[in-house]
Amino acid sequence: MKIIVRAELVTDWGETTAVEVAQFDRPVSELEPECLGLSLADGKQVLSNLQKFFVPAQAYEYCEVRSVCSNCRRQLRLKDYRRLKVDTVFGTVSVRSPRLMSCPCEPPYYLEGLFSPMSQIIPERAAPGLLLLQARLASKMSFRQVVSIMQEFLPGTEKLNHVTVRNRTLRLGSRIDGIELPLAVPLSPDNEWSIAIDGGFVRGRDEARPASFEILTGRLSAPGMKPRVFACVRGEVDSIAERLASLLQTCSGSPAPKVCMITDGANGVQSIHRQLPFPATPILDWFHISMRIRYLEQISKGMHARSETEKHTKSVLCKQMTKLRWCFWNASFKKAEEKIHQALMLCRIIVPQTPAFRDSLSHLDYRLRDLWAYIGSNKSSVIAYAKRQREDKPVSTAMAESAVNQVINARMCKRQQMRWTPRGAHLLAQVRCAVINGDLPQKLAAYNKKMSEMPEHISRFLELLRAGMEREPQPF
Ligand SMILES: [Zn+2]
Repeated sequence: MKIIVRAELVTDWGETTAVEVAQFDRPVSELEPECLGLSLADGKQVLSNLQKFFVPAQAYEYCEVRSVCSNCRRQLRLKDYRRLKVDTVFGTVSVRSPRLMSCPCEPPYYLEGLFSPMSQIIPERAAPGLLLLQARLASKMSFRQVVSIMQEFLPGTEKLNHVTVRNRTLRLGSRIDGIELPLAVPLSPDNEWSIAIDGGFVRGRDEARPASFEILTGRLSAPGMKPRVFACVRGEVDSIAERLASLLQTCSGSPAPKVCMITDGANGVQSIHRQLPFPATPILDWFHISMRIRYLEQISKGMHARSETEKHTKSVLCKQMTKLRWCFWNASFKKAEEKIHQALMLCRIIVPQTPAFRDSLSHLDYRLRDLWAYIGSNKSSVIAYAKRQREDKPVSTAMAESAVNQVINARMCKRQQMRWTPRGAHLLAQVRCAVINGDLPQKLAAYNKKMSEMPEHISRFLELLRAGMEREPQPF
C-alpha cells in the first residue's frame, strides 16, 4: 500500500494550489508490526512538510494584502525581498518577506517609510504558540529537559538549545511580570480575601551575594473563587506591598478590599500589611503556634519520671500543655499566661532526681519562654482562631506553604542542581505562577494589548496630522 498525503491551499480570493505533503510506502509483503500506521518520525515529517507549505503561502497572502494601501487603494512601492526564518511549533520555516514603502495615509507610520509586513506580525521570528509551549514546559522542568522533550516529539528541533529556551522563557516572564488580571466572574465587594504569605529559599548563582535568597510566595483566596498563587523576589520588585495591593485591587475590583493577611511572623513579612494603601487584618499563622505547643507537649510526655514527685509533676505539666493549646486556640491570653507561669514555676521548684529529668525540665523552661516571646512579638496578629475556623475561614499559612511547594520546590530546589540569579528566579516564578493559575496566554495577551495601545499624545498628534492633510493636499 502507498499513502500519499496531499494538501490544498485555497486563498481568500479563491486561488487553489495543491501540494503533495508526504508519501509513505507500505508493501503488503513486508508488513511488520512497526510499519502499522504512521510512526512518530512519519508524523513529524508530515507536520513539518505541511508547515513548510502553509507558512510561506500564508505570508504571501498577507503581504499581497498589505502591499495595497487599505485607505487610498494605492499599490505600495516594493523595495526588495528578504529571507525570514520563523520558528514554529512544527519546525523552522523560511519565508520570503517583502519590504515596502508605507503610504502616508495609514499605519504603521503615516509617513513614507520602509517596513516589512512579516516582521511586524512576527517581530521575534518565533510563533507565539511556540513561545507559550516552551514557557509552559520550562516552568515544570529544566531548560535542558524541555529541549530533549521537544526533540522527542516535535519536528525541526534538532538545533534547539537550552539557552534559547531559557532566554525566551525569561523574556516572557518579564512581559507578564506585574500584569494582574481581573476575575472572569467578579465577586461581591463584601467578600473577605485571605492572603497567605510564606517564603522559600533557592540557591544563588552569584558568588559575591549570599549563597541563597528568598522567594516570597503566597496564595490569594476568597469564598467562591479558584485560589491564585503569586511569587516575587525581594529587590526585583519596587515594593512588595505595592505588588500585593495591585493584585488585590485587580482581583477584587475594589480600591479597598476587605483583606486578612496570614503570615508566620518572620522575615519582615508581618509588616507588609502596614504598607498597604488600605487596611488589612494581620493574622499570625496558627500552624506555627500549634507546632511550638506540640513541641512542649512532646517534651512533657517524653519525661522519664522515676519518683512519685516526678510522676506527679509530669502529669500536671502534660495537662497544662493541653490546656495551653486550648487557650491560644480561643485567644484566652490571660489564662495562657497563667498556665505558662505555673508551668515555669513547676520547672524551677521541682528538685529532679535524675539528670534526664533535670534536662527535660530545663528544656521545657526554655521552650516555654520562647513560645511566650514569639506570641509577645506578634501580639497584634494573634486572633481567636476557633471562631475564625467556625466561620470557615483559613487560619494557617498551610495554603501558602503548598504554594511554595508548587512554585519553588518542584522547579527550583528539590532535586534540581541549578543555581539562580535573583532576576532569573523571579521571572521564572512569574511564568510558573501563571501556568499554575492557568492564565499565561491571557496575561501575554494583556501585555500585547498594552503595548499596541498608542500613547494618547501620539494618537492626538496623528489626528492633527491627518486633519491637516485633509485640508491641504500636500502639507510636506
Ligand atoms: Zn494610502
